[in-house]
Amino acid sequence: MIYPIVKYGNPVLENPADKVTVFDKDLEKLIADMFESMYEAHGVGLAAPQIGIGRRIAVIDVTFKEDPNAKLVLINPEIIHTEGRHTQSEGCLSIPEFRENVARPNKVTVRAQDVKGQWYEKTGEELLARAFLHETDHLNGKLYITHLSALKRDLMKRKIKKLMRAGEW
Ligand SMILES: [Zn+2]
Repeated sequence: MIYPIVKYGNPVLENPADKVTVFDKDLEKLIADMFESMYEAHGVGLAAPQIGIGRRIAVIDVTFKEDPNAKLVLINPEIIHTEGRHTQSEGCLSIPEFRENVARPNKVTVRAQDVKGQWYEKTGEELLARAFLHETDHLNGKLYITHLSALKRDLMKRKIKKLMRAGEW
């Protein structure tokens, strides 16, 4: 099942998501649906709040279907180590049509549970590091625009409000 992507303005995106405690068939189905929804939206990462589900689940595939081993499921993720700094253009499926440069650590280790509830650690660099941080932020109710200067963020919010008023959001 393909879920529609929730856009900025919906409070589910700005509330911390709930911890996952049950690892069952329903969770497996939800994760399969999240991958499907992410690919449909042409994304490389998707957090459950972005489909209106406030649970600590994210899926990532920075290769966009190229490498099946690159499909990652992050349940209850925590960032346990960061290193370096890298600035790159970043966007979000929930804030379509906008992109801004965001400085983030360049090497990141995440600790998370997989679909069976097994804890694992994974270290990523560059785009994968950015995806770990971006998706974990989502589960904490934080959007990438919180990393922008107040000036840039307010400008973006004004543009979005204008689109909302015009019924184009
Ligand atoms: Zn996002």
